Amino acid sequence: MPHEESLPATTLTERAQLAAEIVENPRRYKICEGCDSVVARRVATCPNCFGYRFNTGKKAIVDQARLLGSREKTSVTAEDLL
Ligand SMILES: [Zn+2]
Repeated sequence: MPHEESLPATTLTERAQLAAEIVENPRRYKICEGCDSVVARRVATCPNCFGYRFNTGKKAIVDQARLLGSREKTSVTAEDLL
């Protein structure tokens, strides 16, 4: 299953950097309501769960980015699909 459109970060440092990027540019992202993944705003369906409902609220995106950035490694996808 391709994951090019999902956040590729695998280490806490990378995730923190991505989180910072998202916090700085929340308009470029959105949150999947199916699995809570932060995905690029341009995608039509979630690359993780193929959901098509998204939360584009800036505050929600920033909050989710900070949550992701603070988590210990592990895959965003596997964890969020549980
Ligand atoms: Zn999803």
